[in-house]
Amino acid sequence: MPLCPCRVSPSLSLLTTPIAYSDCCQPYHDAVDVNHSADSNTPKADSAERLMRTRYSAFVLQKAGYIVKTTVPAQQPLLDIKDIESWAQETDWAGLQILSHTPKLAKRHAQVEFKAYYHTAEGTKAHHELSSFVKIAERWYFLDPTVAMTISQKQPCLCGSGEKFKRCCGGYLS
Ligand SMILES: [Zn+2]
Ligand SMILES: [Zn+2]
Repeated sequence: MPLCPCRVSPSLSLLTTPIAYSDCCQPYHDAVDVNHSADSNTPKADSAERLMRTRYSAFVLQKAGYIVKTTVPAQQPLLDIKDIESWAQETDWAGLQILSHTPKLAKRHAQVEFKAYYHTAEGTKAHHELSSFVKIAERWYFLDPTVAMTISQKQPCLCGSGEKFKRCCGGYLS
């Protein structure tokens, strides 16, 4: 039974109990493949860390659709799925390490600091990132700071919270 990609880490001492893909990220990936709507019957990530893990596994398994669907809906049309696909394919992924999880950074925001490892000719390297997430209708979404948004600081936030952008997701997207 294949291990879930999100449970593999280059440092063996960091490995917790091995978990099969089917018991870890697969149900989340399958739910989005089958049903694109935010149906309450589909499994959904109950924390930003859970979502972060499923997104890492989706990169490893080249499920670009999952990456798109778990980004905040207002940014989804601005993502280039082909770009995501080729980046996922060209990267020789080596493992994931969650460094910290702040589940309640603010009313509807959370952050996860992680290292995503990959092999290169010069050895194993890591993307070290602090990612931000927003909860909309009981579902977590990734806030992508690399997507240029044409929204002013005083406009209502793209997440639909009703707050001004600058007081809500704007702080995590600049
Ligand atoms: Zn997993
Ligand atoms: Zn917001």
